[in-house]
Parts: sequence; structure tokens; C-alpha cells
Amino acid sequence: MAFCTQCGQQIPDGSANCPSCGAPQNNTQNFVNNFTNTANTTSQFDPADIQNNKVMAVLAYIGILFLIPLLAAPDSKFARYHTNQGLVLFIAEAILGVALGILGAILAFIPIVGAIVIVILSLAISVVSLVFMILGIVNAANGTAKELPLIGGIKILK
Ligand SMILES: [Zn+2]
Repeated sequence: MAFCTQCGQQIPDGSANCPSCGAPQNNTQNFVNNFTNTANTTSQFDPADIQNNKVMAVLAYIGILFLIPLLAAPDSKFARYHTNQGLVLFIAEAILGVALGILGAILAFIPIVGAIVIVILSLAISVVSLVFMILGIVNAANGTAKELPLIGGIKILK
């Protein structure tokens, strides 16, 4: 599913031109737009809650610090929304870390190439984790309840 970069109409994946307005489509731009074009439910939150708990929401994305909003702002819907995403991200990173450890043990049998693959994979996971963390922090600091790409739909905390 893609959206026109000009008028925002939904268009078939990989279209060269928008069927609605005719604007030529840059598919890389489209990919980036669609990747970050996730559910935004900011309007369902109390503006005062958002204002008061932005810092808590930001902390939710900084590793184990997701525990702080969980304990310090248990009644904040906004902090809870971001704590959920911070927690999902934290778990996803932990799972990837374990997977990488297992893969590393296997790849250790392949001289040189195995080590190179592991280094590349670790770097890739670190970069992706950092990008998700920054996206979450920017959303939280902007007072936005916007889902992270890929993992934002997972709800652990209700
Ligand atoms: Zn269009």
C-alpha cells in the first residue's frame, strides 16, 4: 500500500504516476513516507496529560528507563502509550540480541566471514534500534501518540 507524495491519495504499490492527480511518484520517498505513516491517535488523549507527561513518555524509549513512567506516572494514558512502545522495543531488541548470540555461536565455525557477518548484523541491529528509539522520542517530545513502524501495533500494556 502506498500514498501519493503529492495529494496523499492511496495508489497501487510501485506506481510511476498517481492515478488521481498525475504527479510522478518517487518510490523511495513513498517508502519513507509510508514507513512513518503509522496510526496517530493523539486526538484521543487529554492535552493536559500530554503536556504534563511528555518527559515520562520520552524516558519510555531509553532502555530500562521505561520503568520510570510505569512507576511514576501510572495514571497517565499518554505516558502509558509510549511506555508500551518502549517496552515492545526493549523486548524486540532483547530477542534480536539473543538471536544474534545464537547466530554468532554458529557463525564462529566459519573463519573470518563469520566474524564479518556478525559485526555487520550487530551494527545493523544497533542502527535500527537507534532509529526506532529516536522516532519514539521525537513523537513523545512532540506530544504525539503515533505508532512506531512495524512494532507500534503491538500492545502489551493496555
Ligand atoms: Zn496524487
